[in-house]
Amino acid sequence: GPVDTQKRQVTYPPNFTQETFERAMGDLRRTLGAQHVEINDGPLNDGNYYHVPLSHDGYAVLEKDYFVPSAIACPGSTADVQAIVKWANRWVFPLWPISVGRNLGYGGSAPRVPGSLVIDLGRRMNKVLAVDEKAANCLLQPGVTYIALYEELKRRGLGDKLWVDVPDLGGGSVVGNALDRGVGYTPYGDHFAQHCGMEVVLANGEVVRLGMDSMPGSKTGQCFQYGYGPYLDGMFTQSNYGIVTQMGMFLMPNPGGVLPFMISFKNKDDLVEAVNTLQPMMASRLLGNVPSLRTGMWDSAVYNSKEHYWPDHQGRPVPEEIELEILKKEDLGYWVFYGALYGPEDITRPQFDIVKSRFKHIKDVRFQLREDAPARSYLHDRAAVFAGVPTFRELAWHQWIPNAGEVRSSQLVCAPAEPSSRVNRQLFFAPISGVSGSDARAQVDMCKKITNKYGFDYLGTFYIGQREMHHIVTILWDRSKPEQRIAADKCIRELIRSHAELGYGEYRSHIATADDIMSTYNWNDGAFRKLCEQLKDSLDPNGILQPGRSGVWPKSYRGQGWEI
Ligand code: ADP
Repeated sequence: GPVDTQKRQVTYPPNFTQETFERAMGDLRRTLGAQHVEINDGPLNDGNYYHVPLSHDGYAVLEKDYFVPSAIACPGSTADVQAIVKWANRWVFPLWPISVGRNLGYGGSAPRVPGSLVIDLGRRMNKVLAVDEKAANCLLQPGVTYIALYEELKRRGLGDKLWVDVPDLGGGSVVGNALDRGVGYTPYGDHFAQHCGMEVVLANGEVVRLGMDSMPGSKTGQCFQYGYGPYLDGMFTQSNYGIVTQMGMFLMPNPGGVLPFMISFKNKDDLVEAVNTLQPMMASRLLGNVPSLRTGMWDSAVYNSKEHYWPDHQGRPVPEEIELEILKKEDLGYWVFYGALYGPEDITRPQFDIVKSRFKHIKDVRFQLREDAPARSYLHDRAAVFAGVPTFRELAWHQWIPNAGEVRSSQLVCAPAEPSSRVNRQLFFAPISGVSGSDARAQVDMCKKITNKYGFDYLGTFYIGQREMHHIVTILWDRSKPEQRIAADKCIRELIRSHAELGYGEYRSHIATADDIMSTYNWNDGAFRKLCEQLKDSLDPNGILQPGRSGVWPKSYRGQGWEI
């Protein structure tokens, strides 16, 4: 379709008028160079995964012109970031740093407070600063994406030696994902746990290096995570206490091979026994990576649309009998497990036999290696991810509901957003479960009931760690139907509430649900939130840095009705 080029009224931050905003922008242009400041007064074209809009959340769950920045600044150095922060303190101007801004299902590039200045760190600060082949680590600027790191390692002739742990999609920022405590699937799947050293610009404009790099000339900044004294790194994750301008990450030395496999569990009720069987294997590290267990229906969405499977759906969630038909047609289990064993074949083949033998009491269980799977099988794409190769096929399931499906491109580019009526919307609900069949079943039953009640299909995956599972539920809706967007918002809030009642909390949130989630972490009269607020007020007295991130509001915003 034609690109909308209409000018739009700028959304000013709290307490700004057109006049004060323009003066502040003049000051910012003088500070940073006019070419590195953009006013957000263009149309709100949604773009897609490959074309991330910085103008708003391309997957807006509230009205799409609510979470919008007033302007975007592109710093080229740590000194530039410091200058922006000092500028923001002068003007009391809210800031929202992003690394790349994909943040799929959690709010994209959008700021929590309308009219904030988005700091697009990634556009110019996108270098791999160092790679140490022997120590297997690297030092990155925020704009380095998984695919860029992967390509850079290849360029340096290290592609076969050092692996990158990639999440489902390779277009996000390595630093941004670790800061949001995202996950991948190799033994290095807990991303924050693999970080080593960071440089942070604080809300007062000072810059600090953490870990060993707090010593000038340190030779071990990316080798030892803790350094000396209080360990503060975690404070800068999912928080609004600082802007991270570089970060060290461990890379995975090629283990000498990988054996990816798939297990299909035929029946809905197999979930309990599957998880209980996995539990000791995860805890003992017989399975040493982050495998996943998801509904076969989510896999079928990778292959085809709901329309294709069930032409008569009329927007309704798929009932059990149709679900079974779909699974049969695609030769999928009700639950599909993707796992991998690492090391040379003469180790992984016997290990695989052990894994198989542990499951043999489950009826109709089926094991597949890549050689047993048809060419179109999603196993091949998961196999790439297990070997540290970024992929994009995970986007294919967006075709599940009408208005999706631009997702086949293999080109990853960041360009101005284009209108795309074919993109649907999504929202992730992400509670933590024990590696326990009864927890998993309780969550699935609850999620299925609630998503279905609001007209959505239950599409869920468990990402399995040693002692917990990240249960990721996607709520997909059709952008052309505002009532579905509103239902999605209601649905996720009910999910949050009902899970908290049973003692289950989320590991990560969309900007629109941060307040709801933070209010469930309220032991001892909200002691945790109070501590976060105390830190916020002391580190950022003007409240300029990411107000409202993770439900933590600076003093000047508290009690003013900002929570949603
Ligand atoms: P993605 O890697 O998916 O593109 P983003 O760059 O959008 O992710 O980052 C996700 C969120 O993490 C942002 O909305 C922001 O709140 C936070 N964040 C990302 N990078 C930084 C950073 N360098 N410093 C501080 N916070 C950051």
